[in-house]
Amino acid sequence: MTDAERRTALEEIAAEVRVCTKCRLHQTRTKAVPGEGDPDTEVIFVGEGPGFNEDRQGRPFIGRAGDLLVKLLASIGWRREDVFITNVVKCRPPDNRDPQPDEIAACAPYLRRQLEVLDPAVVVTLGRFSMGTFMPGARISQVHGTVRPVDPATGAGAALVFAMYHPAAALRTPAIERDSYADIGAVPAALLDSRRRREAAVETDVAQGTPEADPPSASAAIESPEPPSPPAPTPAADDATPQLTLF
Ligand code: SF4
Repeated sequence: MTDAERRTALEEIAAEVRVCTKCRLHQTRTKAVPGEGDPDTEVIFVGEGPGFNEDRQGRPFIGRAGDLLVKLLASIGWRREDVFITNVVKCRPPDNRDPQPDEIAACAPYLRRQLEVLDPAVVVTLGRFSMGTFMPGARISQVHGTVRPVDPATGAGAALVFAMYHPAAALRTPAIERDSYADIGAVPAALLDSRRRREAAVETDVAQGTPEADPPSASAAIESPEPPSPPAPTPAADDATPQLTLF
């Protein structure tokens, strides 16, 4: 898929989301929030659902949780424009309640299609509902900061999934904020690991004579901004200097 085709495919999905009525959440939303970011990225961040500000503006992760996500990304030298950010449900649950299983199920095809288009190397889950989509049965307190292969049925055919707490939880609890800075510091290493796995898979396909082996990654590498923006001064950042920021 070319860059232009990928961009067009993502916009087609977004257009469907904006007029979707497949679950009850459409009745109370102001704007649906399809997601946004670099269509050529290797990394997608998946949260739970839009909040108050996201519902007003139709954009994911703005407001205080979004500000913290930007700081977390900056701590490894990345910008939100370098990645793609979306949610498990694209419309705001009333009063920010948890998304219900039938709402998650109704919205799942949109996320699956976004993953199929983006073909990410790494899926970073933010919060337990996103984690539950990619690591069923896991407990976030036990798996945050860890990585495992993604089930191809999710749409991310050759990716690793990396679990993190939701930034909103980090805003409420300093210990979770510290964990979040430590966790995101390991995401670049997960990306390098995923790249190696994808390249090895292609080499195996070539060795076995698979005629239509894809290149290692259809997406462009994330470039480290110059210079990387330092994180906002927080005790957590001081405790969790990232080990790897360059690609
Ligand atoms: S949450 Fe998803 S399935 Fe429900 S109305 Fe919004 S876009 Fe459609």
